[in-house]
Amino acid sequence: MADKLDFIRQELDALRGQGLYNTIRTIDSPQGAWLVVDGKRVLNFCSNNYLGLANDPRLKAAAQQAVERYGAGPAAVRTIAGTLSLHVKLEQRLAEFKGAEATISFQSGFTSNLAVVPALMGKEDAIFSDELNHASIIDGCRLSGAKIIRYAHNDPQALEQQIQQAQETYRRGMVITDGVFSMDGDIAPLPAVVEVADRYGLLTMVDDAHGEGVLGRGGRGIVDHFGLHGKVDIEVGTMSKAFGVVGGYIAGRPEIVEWLRQRGRPFLFSSAVTPADAAACLAAVDILEASTDRVDKLWANTRYFKQEMRRLGFDIGHSETPITPVMLGEAELAQKFSRSLFERNVFAMAIGFPTVPRGKARIRVMISAAHEQADLDQGLEAFAQVGRALGVIG
Ligand SMILES: *Cc1c(COP(=O)(O)O)cnc(C)c1O
Repeated sequence: MADKLDFIRQELDALRGQGLYNTIRTIDSPQGAWLVVDGKRVLNFCSNNYLGLANDPRLKAAAQQAVERYGAGPAAVRTIAGTLSLHVKLEQRLAEFKGAEATISFQSGFTSNLAVVPALMGKEDAIFSDELNHASIIDGCRLSGAKIIRYAHNDPQALEQQIQQAQETYRRGMVITDGVFSMDGDIAPLPAVVEVADRYGLLTMVDDAHGEGVLGRGGRGIVDHFGLHGKVDIEVGTMSKAFGVVGGYIAGRPEIVEWLRQRGRPFLFSSAVTPADAAACLAAVDILEASTDRVDKLWANTRYFKQEMRRLGFDIGHSETPITPVMLGEAELAQKFSRSLFERNVFAMAIGFPTVPRGKARIRVMISAAHEQADLDQGLEAFAQVGRALGVIG
């Protein structure tokens, strides 16, 4: 009889054959401009540590103090015995920082999406979703049971057409978009999306995982970037990217936050982040409020790196943010490029299908305020050498 798991082996072999098998490297150092990967010191072009906070001494000290004061684990879900004063304080500080009416924190950005969409939408409802939305949004939408209607990427006119076509077929409607699209680095045209949604009385939600700490005044995110305070019903944030820790949250109208405390399933049925995490997040918010230096450096690094990559002749897509896709086409070329960079002590991941469409494989470079100019120059030199060796640039 055939082994029940043969189908998995076949799928894995197929991935390897197509250059789509994901080899996961192991890090043995703190996150920063440089990492120790598989025993080797390499320049880090992979992390979402936009502001270099993941190994910041102030975050580490806050985490250590919280462990001393509150212990290691939360010991219960928040609705039973797991809400610490640290969680409540974090929600207050995030609301102040964002200029939002209320916030509620979750274990991650992923669980925030799984919490909020099913809490608000059901089988009779319709969700209009940008076709390139993040997997966690898609999963949240699926869990809700609502009808999911995809609209063409970043196209408010296409959104309006879809809304008109679907009119009167649903009870409630919601429009959901990523703020910054993580694979291309482009920004959602949020004012136009909100304007269309408002005209049809639909709820609006933006997932700002890659805009948090990056866009807006001092990194206050996409709603601040566009001056849309009070105009977006739900803003999803993560603490695992620019904030350098882990966790997620929803910012928005108080009614929504109150409802999520009653009906957000990851809130009710899964424990919250640990005291150390919550305290480190609080320290990150303090740092962002105190100064824009890190955000400014992130953007200066971004401008420099992109300008030099273009000068070398690379196609870096149409990113408007520190996310820098180096477009290579076939997945095998992207993987080969990534391996050659690694031989030159540069760690930059190849990304292929299904994370991006077939034929649009790339290396994604993540710029950080942790990088110094010398780091960026070293990375650029490696890209130039590999690009020429593989015939990508002249
Ligand atoms: C990274 C990301 C998430 C997940 O955030 P975590 O806090 O790591 O779970 C959710 N949404 C978007 C758009 C993301 O880019």
